[in-house]
Amino acid sequence: QADMAMYCAKDEGKNNFQFYATELEDRSLVRMRLEHNLRCALEKQQFELAYQAKISLAEGQIVGVEALLRWHCEELGTVLPGQFLPLAEELGLIVPIGRWVLETACEQNMAWQRAGLPAVRIAVNISAVQLSDHTLVSHVRSVLERTGMPPHLLELEITETAVMQNIANAVAQLAEIKKLGVMIAIDDFGTGYSSLTQLRDLPVDTLKIDRSFVNELATNTTDQSIARAIITMGKNLCLNVIAEGVETPEQEAFLRAEACDAMQGFYFSRPGAAEVFAELLEGHAQRYVG
Ligand code: C2E
Ligand code: MG
Ligand code: MG
Ligand code: MG
Repeated sequence: QADMAMYCAKDEGKNNFQFYATELEDRSLVRMRLEHNLRCALEKQQFELAYQAKISLAEGQIVGVEALLRWHCEELGTVLPGQFLPLAEELGLIVPIGRWVLETACEQNMAWQRAGLPAVRIAVNISAVQLSDHTLVSHVRSVLERTGMPPHLLELEITETAVMQNIANAVAQLAEIKKLGVMIAIDDFGTGYSSLTQLRDLPVDTLKIDRSFVNELATNTTDQSIARAIITMGKNLCLNVIAEGVETPEQEAFLRAEACDAMQGFYFSRPGAAEVFAELLEGHAQRYVG
């Protein structure tokens, strides 16, 4: 939006500059308020995780759950990751926040198990800055030890873009994480321009087809071709393939027909509180850890 305003200001003369300046002030004000609040959000325990199920397409079972960060800010209300993660990365806050996420997700997963629910694999998102933090691997190891969670019940989701930002570091870090027995998924796959060679050399278990290819899957033949290509490639590389953002029965039917392994999206379940996911898991009381 700022870029657009600047474009107008340059192109159409002085009158728009006023608008641009005001807009900029507003934007930096919003940023300052965000920053001020974000700096004490951990301390004030304003973060929470929402949990969204992953479903196998062949059996309809819950094969996993993804933890998604939510921020309940006093001043700004509930803020979604897209609105504060870039700032958290910039301020270096993502590392302590990410530690909280990993710890909370593993503790929650063990609490579900203690409550007698079937074992389920929990996925945690890791950003580019977290991946370049050299304490990541030792932190993952110590959280697993402390919570007693079996490593194969943890999955880290890293976007293809984050991996490509520093592929050498990503390969090295992911290899260390895999040595712990933790699973790895490439998130938002298809948007990050990795080559087949790079993909072959990445120590990963799962590809997550980006939501942008799933949106119009029922009608858009180009998106159908892309989804089909990712599923086929995943199979040939012995990777699991899961589609994100599945919202309709038509999308699900396409993915099942193409033998995609799993799906995630509003069609089956929205991200929700721990208790809501526990009920879902209980209703699905079948043991499955693929
Ligand atoms: P992501 O990992 O690709 O997660 C999927 C996003 O799509 C989530 O948005 C989820 O709420 C949303 N979603 C799930 N199913 C559907 C659907 O059927 N339709 C639509 N329209 N949306 C759906 P959310 O929770 O806002 O998270 C956005 C992104 O923020 C995530 O994308 C992930 O990259 C990042 N993120 C979330 N939590 C964390 C975290 O704890 N740490 C880090 N580093 N990143 C996180
Ligand atoms: Mg994810
Ligand atoms: Mg994703
Ligand atoms: Mg995505």
